[in-house]
Amino acid sequence: MDKRELVEKINKLKKEKNAIVLAHTYQNIEIDEVADFSGDSLFLSRQAAKTDADIIVFAGVYFMAETAKILSPEKTVLLPVLSAGCAMADKINVDQLRKFKSQHPNIPVVCYVNSTAAVKAESDICCTSANAVDVVKSLNVPEVLFVPDKHLGAYVESMLDGVKVITYPGFCPVHHEIAVSDIVKQKALYPNAKVMVHPECSDEVVKMADFTGSTTGIIKTVKESNDKEFIIVTEKGVVERLQRDCPNKKFVLINEKAVCNTMKLIRLEDILHVLQTGENEINIAKDIAQKAITAIDKMLKI
Ligand code: SF4
Repeated sequence: MDKRELVEKINKLKKEKNAIVLAHTYQNIEIDEVADFSGDSLFLSRQAAKTDADIIVFAGVYFMAETAKILSPEKTVLLPVLSAGCAMADKINVDQLRKFKSQHPNIPVVCYVNSTAAVKAESDICCTSANAVDVVKSLNVPEVLFVPDKHLGAYVESMLDGVKVITYPGFCPVHHEIAVSDIVKQKALYPNAKVMVHPECSDEVVKMADFTGSTTGIIKTVKESNDKEFIIVTEKGVVERLQRDCPNKKFVLINEKAVCNTMKLIRLEDILHVLQTGENEINIAKDIAQKAITAIDKMLKI
């Protein structure tokens, strides 16, 4: 089946079954052709919470589909490829979180949304890279525990006066492996380019940024900017979408390894398959879902 045929079939089935497709910005760009909404995890969480659809097909990684299910428990949530996991979310489980909490008692836990439902259930409030600073600020406390991303936690601390952020030693391998030398190399080639960095990168890389922000923050800033060249220091999908949407500007991916392989597992064929069969449904134990939604709801109110 060619791409046009696949897109037509998916769109027809979406109508018949009252389904929507949510697509993360790191997906293969062809997925956008069938997506009702594309964006980062905060944006997609909000869409999942307010949709009237009966079925949500989540083109993203496992924890994102879990979050959609927690927010819309009465809806069917399908993940086109069940093995699409997140290496950062896998860095902490419930036992490890409990141990971390016991080492730092009576301190609220802020949990990056890139985590399992069970870890969210053990946390006080969730955040995304778009709202992490505001979430921590809203707690109005001198100390927080931050899981699982040590880099995002360090970034939050650098943005707030007088708040100590105690971080769990997790990270996203895709962003963690981006080095200062990568930026030096690209800057030598494109000296006028603005450096746009995601806060999942290391502190040293963030220090070299002209702008640091979430995927949505980077995209918005670039689109509104009068500058013409940008070095994009995050996942490849962002560069592809920017190049599509802003053909008169130049975008340079920081390096060819900045690719999340599990995000790229999903193809149009997989979306069609789950819509046809209803396979790969996400289910979450009630007690975990009930506790996790408290942490997510608190975030969505900010
Ligand atoms: S880019 Fe990193 S944090 Fe995002 S889904 Fe992939 S492994 Fe997880």
